[in-house]
Amino acid sequence: TVALARAESLIALTPDYPEPGVLFRDISPLLVDAAALEAVTTGLIQPFRGAFDVVAGIEARGFLLAGAIAIAAGVGTLPIRKAGKLPNPAASIEYHLEYGSAVIEAPGVLEPGARVLLVDDVLATGGTLAASRQIIAELGGDVAGAAVVLELEELGGRRHAGAVHSLFRTGG
Ligand code: 5GP
Repeated sequence: TVALARAESLIALTPDYPEPGVLFRDISPLLVDAAALEAVTTGLIQPFRGAFDVVAGIEARGFLLAGAIAIAAGVGTLPIRKAGKLPNPAASIEYHLEYGSAVIEAPGVLEPGARVLLVDDVLATGGTLAASRQIIAELGGDVAGAAVVLELEELGGRRHAGAVHSLFRTGG
């Protein structure tokens, strides 16, 4: 749609951030635009209508998308956090990054068997999304699906992350 094409054009590109050779994508100009935010929110949930009870947002921009989706879909939201932010995490998963490793955590607030839609802004190597699937399983939930605004196809993240609905894709 026209609104989605405009939303895609609002993703800002910053070369050599956070390190040389990386082209960083920032959805902040999209989030601040009401029509673009609405188009993206609608597009992210479109394949999953009626199939999830909770939307889990991955820190940090995923929180913003998850909040918008929660209201649009009439569901609640769960934060998946970077390590050290929660007083009492119920689940914690360590995973490997290109250099080093990372840990994500979540609070123990899911109903058993809750159907969870995972949401993030960017799919890169897929490690974060794969770990997020594990977190939901550890919490006793069922992953209903995963949706991202932008998939960096050249990194092949889908191989690690499993099925993902991506609104926009960049090759090479
Ligand atoms: P992964 O490599 O695990 O797929 O991505 C790691 C995390 O970093 C994800 O939460 C993803 O959203 C974020 N990330 C990776 N590349 C970018 C980028 O270019 N822009 C933004 N905003 N986030 C990124």
